[in-house]
Amino acid sequence: MANKGKLYVIAAPSGAGKTSLVKAMVQSTPHVKVSVSHTTRPIRPGETDGMNYHFTSQEIFLELMNRGQFLEHAEVFGNYYGTSEAWVRAQLDSGEDVILEIDWQGAQQVRKLMPEAVSIFILPPSKEALRERLIGRGTDDMEVIERRLNQAVNEMSHYGEFDYLVINDEFDLALRDLQTIIRSRRLSISWMQHYKSDLIEGLLN
Ligand code: GDP
Ligand code: ADP
Ligand code: 5GP
Repeated sequence: MANKGKLYVIAAPSGAGKTSLVKAMVQSTPHVKVSVSHTTRPIRPGETDGMNYHFTSQEIFLELMNRGQFLEHAEVFGNYYGTSEAWVRAQLDSGEDVILEIDWQGAQQVRKLMPEAVSIFILPPSKEALRERLIGRGTDDMEVIERRLNQAVNEMSHYGEFDYLVINDEFDLALRDLQTIIRSRRLSISWMQHYKSDLIEGLLN
């Protein structure tokens, strides 16, 4: 157990900035990987299949689901999303930390299956900022944006189920908060006993 990576679950209302924060987190921290979900949502301009998501037909998604390939899956905004269990387990077994960017329903499923997972909820500084960010991102039409804003309060009402809360007002401060959470988990006794075993043994013998 001690030599395995840690699992982080990150959720937020759409537009709060979780994808931007997680991208910056992965670029600035060694041994952190982000899971690429499967989704039936249409691909957006600027997205790449296999990088942002594995874009899949509903038929294939349901087949993967029925074969038990997903660690968790959920329907969000009328589309299916799911996390590949095999990929996540392989990363954790090799000692990499893994981040899942998923919704509250998926977070509940992961918490049940892997209670050792650390969960983080990201909030925007205000409802107005959330709307501005969704519009400013320029990837969704107004109907989709309104649907996401209508769901935001529902998503945010689950914040209390998470271990940590980060407010994404100023980007760099929110990024530092995320980095601090991961850093502190890596200073835990169970991880340090593994990571610094030679040093500790040398000191005690
Ligand atoms: P260090 O912090 O000066 O030891 O620099 P490293 O580049 O070796 O490690 C950076 C961070 O990655 C530290 O927080 C380590 O705890 C963590 N780390 C190092 N190796 C591993 C690993 O194999 N798996 C995981 N999950 N974290 C690691
Ligand atoms: P999510 O993945 O939660 O839907 P994104 O990461 O796509 O959110 O961010 C939504 C938009 O808000 C993007 O255009 C992003 O550049 C912008 N954004 C993210 N964080 C901040 C911030 N702290 N201040 C201002 N804009 C931000
Ligand atoms: P988007 O379409 O904006 O990329 O994501 C929409 C919502 O789906 C977000 O709340 C996001 O967290 C969630 N989501 C993305 N991938 C997954 C996944 O694999 N599982 C679950 N449960 N939710 C996901």
